[in-house]
Amino acid sequence: MDSEIISRLKEAVGSDYVITDEEKARPFLIDWTKRFRGRAVVVRPGSTEEVSRVMAVAYDTRTPVVPQSGGTTLVGGSIPDDSGRAILLSLGRMNRIEEIDTGNDTVTVEAGLILEQLHRAVEEKGRFFPLSFGTQGSAQIGGALATNAGGTAVLRYGNMRDLCLGLEVVLPDGRVMTALRGLRKDNTGYDLKQLFIGSEGTLGVITRAVLKLFPIPRGRQTALVGIPDLESSVKLLDRVKAAAGSELTGFELIQRKCIERVAEQLPGVELPGPVDDCPWWILAELSSQAQEGASLEAILAEAFEAGEVANAYLAQSLSDSEAFWRIRESIPEADAIVGNNLHNDVSLKISLIPEFLEVTVKRLYDAYPWLDPSLYGHLGDGNIHFNIGSIPSNLAFENEEGIRRITYEEVVKRNGSISAEHGIGQLKRGHFLALKDPLELEIMERISQAIDPRGIMNPGKLLADRKD
Ligand SMILES: Cc1cc2nc3c(=O)[nH]c(=O)nc-3n(C[C@H](O)[C@H](O)[C@H](O)COP(=O)(O)OP(=O)(O)OC[C@H]3O[C@@H](n4cnc5c(N)ncnc54)[C@H](O)[C@@H]3O)c2cc1C
Repeated sequence: MDSEIISRLKEAVGSDYVITDEEKARPFLIDWTKRFRGRAVVVRPGSTEEVSRVMAVAYDTRTPVVPQSGGTTLVGGSIPDDSGRAILLSLGRMNRIEEIDTGNDTVTVEAGLILEQLHRAVEEKGRFFPLSFGTQGSAQIGGALATNAGGTAVLRYGNMRDLCLGLEVVLPDGRVMTALRGLRKDNTGYDLKQLFIGSEGTLGVITRAVLKLFPIPRGRQTALVGIPDLESSVKLLDRVKAAAGSELTGFELIQRKCIERVAEQLPGVELPGPVDDCPWWILAELSSQAQEGASLEAILAEAFEAGEVANAYLAQSLSDSEAFWRIRESIPEADAIVGNNLHNDVSLKISLIPEFLEVTVKRLYDAYPWLDPSLYGHLGDGNIHFNIGSIPSNLAFENEEGIRRITYEEVVKRNGSISAEHGIGQLKRGHFLALKDPLELEIMERISQAIDPRGIMNPGKLLADRKD
């Protein structure tokens, strides 16, 4: 990068917070999967004003900017290319909680706050922030908003689009849009915050947000439930929804192999008992404000009579419940130890999922008999992590294009989505551009042109390269 630009960046944030040394910059320039690597000058602003100054320099000099929060994206979204031209804008220093308003049930935070720290802080005030997933100890609020993160309680509370009531964004030219009103109802024109949520850093830099809070659930019932076949998963979901209504908080489908792999690879994670008697398992959770709500045990007993359930472990304590969730949340880590996984986070209408899984897995095995799929996900949201590995692991990567093509063909045939959670990033851009409706793509490109006329925001991610 030009030394003149580097000096202006040092003026903007202070020289201690501009990292040009390749060794020191390295941790910011490699992603969680270790698959994506880039080169850039790392800039670590400490306030919205500093972000604004950095963006003004970038706009003026047409320097690409890649916003980065916790770096846990699975699609290479927060890693720059290897040209060394970009600014990697790391938001981690902006981690303050500005206000917890228990009267309005909202919290105002800076974008670099780590999700788990938010959980702890609001719990001390008797409140609950429901977004939760495996990397919550690293992922930050800005990244969760920019990817519209979901997690394990979307069924009941929604994803980040539903949980956000206000946003502050620094635009590509350095101007600041502060829309931190924290209102549940506001019909004064377009809801602009929704444009930036899920935009994967391609429209602006999220610097602050107002998020919804909830009372801490008092009653919690969790069970790890063995089912005889895939069809039973949808029948059981219907049954639990009918009996428990909005108390149903989580409904995760897990292939038996995933549980066994966690036990093999991560000896610290304990299983409640043998799981070899069922091909598929469900992690179901009900939560309620009162101590007494619907009885998960009673619902499962009825499901057992109906043949939808073959085995079940009911959590007897909070620590049992946490142990069950640890199994589910350790699956990506166990997969990563075994070898390379082609991550997928497809979504479909829930009723189509059993048939989709059977047809797609068969098609894939016919083409690649050595495949080692790892299937699990948020069934209650219609979202499956259709992850594909192989033994030896390099075979899956060598055949990645073909594997993804078959998978996405089956998704698109059923009017599903190739990304329910992780977004497009650099990993799925080609498939996204080929498969998305052309008119929807055109509208997205016009929005990007209008807000980012110089095309400096996170280039190479999501949308096609600009021709100008
Ligand atoms: C093991 C594992 C489990 C996961 N489970 C889930 C899950 O259950 N549900 C789910 O939704 N996701 C899940 N993810 C994906 C990932 O954790 C989320 O997408 C997360 O929200 C990303 O947050 P982050 O802070 O790491 O963002 P990063 O990875 O740093 O960035 C993600 C994207 O947002 C952009 N961005 C970051 N910060 C800003 C900002 N301040 N302003 C504008 N753009 C910005 C980046 O440029 C990038 O495109 C999982 C990932 C892993 C590795």
